[in-house]
Amino acid sequence: MMLEIIRTIDDLRKKVSDFRKVGERIGLIPTMGALHAGHLSLVAQAKKETDRQIVTIFVNPKQFGKNEDFSAYPRHEAEDAAKLQNVDVLFAPNAEEIYPPGFATKVEVGELANELCGPHRPGHFSGVATIVTKLLTQSLPDRAYFGEKDYQQLQIIKRLVKDLDIPVEIVGVSTMREHDGLAMSSRNRYLSQVERKTASRLPEILKQSAAAIKDGKPIDIVLREGLEKMKQAGFDPIDYFTLADSETLKPLNSPTRPCRLFIAAYLGRTRLIDNWPVITGK
Ligand code: AMP
Repeated sequence: MMLEIIRTIDDLRKKVSDFRKVGERIGLIPTMGALHAGHLSLVAQAKKETDRQIVTIFVNPKQFGKNEDFSAYPRHEAEDAAKLQNVDVLFAPNAEEIYPPGFATKVEVGELANELCGPHRPGHFSGVATIVTKLLTQSLPDRAYFGEKDYQQLQIIKRLVKDLDIPVEIVGVSTMREHDGLAMSSRNRYLSQVERKTASRLPEILKQSAAAIKDGKPIDIVLREGLEKMKQAGFDPIDYFTLADSETLKPLNSPTRPCRLFIAAYLGRTRLIDNWPVITGK
């Protein structure tokens, strides 16, 4: 199999219709590139469940805030393509292909986008929802794969395909971690050596806090102690550390239903997010 790099929506549609004509099932894996093993675990899952895989790489300007890292975001297409030799298509359009002059539509997902990262990144989830809606309707895959690392994003995408009747199954894939537990992320490469060491405190604190909640320790105490540990480790500012319902993402005071701990905090200039299950299941 040879990776084919496609730049235009027309060419993507032609390719997809070729796959469909012979009844092949298509898996879509949207990314912003700078691919790491986390992204590749999405590809691996898609390979198990579909006949053809399309990876997209598009650093979506609409999901970055004014003071965020859009221009600094790592772009390494040749290296990325080399990692994708086992997939069929890399769709890597330029910004004008996706947002031609006059582009005006926004997809807003409502309440889910107001929780957790929402207030800290105004416009972010609208940018995500808009690009994902476009990528899904451009490629019309059977399944699309998203990481639980970006748990809020995953819930928002599940909501939008339901609400907009997009006929695709959204598959959540568990978080791939480094040996010390740090969730893999394209942004980890921003961390200095010292920061990289400190970063592993984040999953440690999550894991310990989840265990404490399961042991029956009151949530407010667990969260207060966790925040204190994060401050001591050097995270500053800490955007949030919350126990929230796994589906609605609303904060919970007791673990009475499927729920997760969610964290977002800065180390130097790098914003890290992570989440950890406390009670799993529907
Ligand atoms: P990004 O390129 O950061 O936009 O991520 C593209 C997709 O890969 C998203 O669905 C992410 O949730 C997913 N992803 C990123 N990091 C990880 C990870 N460590 N484990 C699993 N999935 C991930």
